[in-house]
Amino acid sequence: MQVIVGKSAGFCMGVRRAVNKVMELASENAGAQISVYGPLIHNRQVNEMLEKKRVKIAHALDEISPGICVIRTHGISPQKRELLKEKRVEICDATCPRVLAVQKVIEQHAHKGYFIVIVGDKGHAEVEGLMGFTGGSGIVVDSPEKTDEIPCGVTKVCVVAQTTQNHGVFKRIESLLRERYADCIVFDTICDSTAERQQEVLDLAGKVDAMVIVGGKESANTMRLVEISQAAGVPTFHVETEKEIDPRLFKGFARVGVSAGASTPNIIVHNVAKAIEAIA
Ligand code: SF4
Repeated sequence: MQVIVGKSAGFCMGVRRAVNKVMELASENAGAQISVYGPLIHNRQVNEMLEKKRVKIAHALDEISPGICVIRTHGISPQKRELLKEKRVEICDATCPRVLAVQKVIEQHAHKGYFIVIVGDKGHAEVEGLMGFTGGSGIVVDSPEKTDEIPCGVTKVCVVAQTTQNHGVFKRIESLLRERYADCIVFDTICDSTAERQQEVLDLAGKVDAMVIVGGKESANTMRLVEISQAAGVPTFHVETEKEIDPRLFKGFARVGVSAGASTPNIIVHNVAKAIEAIA
């Protein structure tokens, strides 16, 4: 079977930087306790590999052991950072620089009195961190309808996006808010890596009989790729590893496209492509 792998599939800059940082920490501090505050990235296989190197995932503050604590790629709110400092651990900040940039934009505009609209997924780690910079004057929306929840009396809004947000949804919300508020500042903070990947999936979906998206089941950017591929009308399979490739589901397809979320290691993408190629 012919397989076309998207050029952008695999680790993005922020994920590669964070994983390398933690791997270095683990090898330079043999014997030390290293905790990551929440999963470093949304990829089970990578987090399990780190656990084997004694890097423990702490899901709550009281699970953080004395020693070194890593802040995940998604970042954390200023309030959580303060609580972390009180624990007197050595902090290693692996927040992606692009997420740090969005935090800064929010902080500056909240200070100037803007109501912050974050286009993103409520409850996602990055979005929870971003909300902490709004000073309590912000909202998370994931559809144009949700903008009705912006409180009455708001006159100026600053719109930003979760870095892995769907570009189409962001643009629809942007144009609606620009019409509604005379003072509306918009920052398209969707990461280039995300935008490029989404466009590539769209292009690839038009050239193949089926698409396979590789990535963590909890990875927002992977789920976005799945949604985009499905919306393009092509049969789409979401797998975490090559073990989930069921040859029976690929009957009748001659050409299959493969893409992957930003937190999927390139070796897993490669293995999935090989497993599909091997289907008679
Ligand atoms: S997708 Fe972009 S914002 Fe997210 S970790 Fe990767 S480089 Fe950073």
